[in-house]
Amino acid sequence: MATTGDRPEVRLVAHCRRCNGWLVSAESVRAGIGPQCAAREAADQRAAAELQPTALTLFDIAA
Ligand SMILES: [Zn+2]
Repeated sequence: MATTGDRPEVRLVAHCRRCNGWLVSAESVRAGIGPQCAAREAADQRAAAELQPTALTLFDIAA
């Protein structure tokens, strides 16, 4: 394996927006959330959608 000391280390590192944990995979960094938190967030959104079966749009509220 070639040495990596002669090239700058570019790391994609960010914090998960949900748990603030480190994101180390490029995919998670792009999404801004870890895979487990993404699954939990999706579940939360489904639950929220079920709580509000008739979602009001801005037009409904303004009318
Ligand atoms: Zn997370």
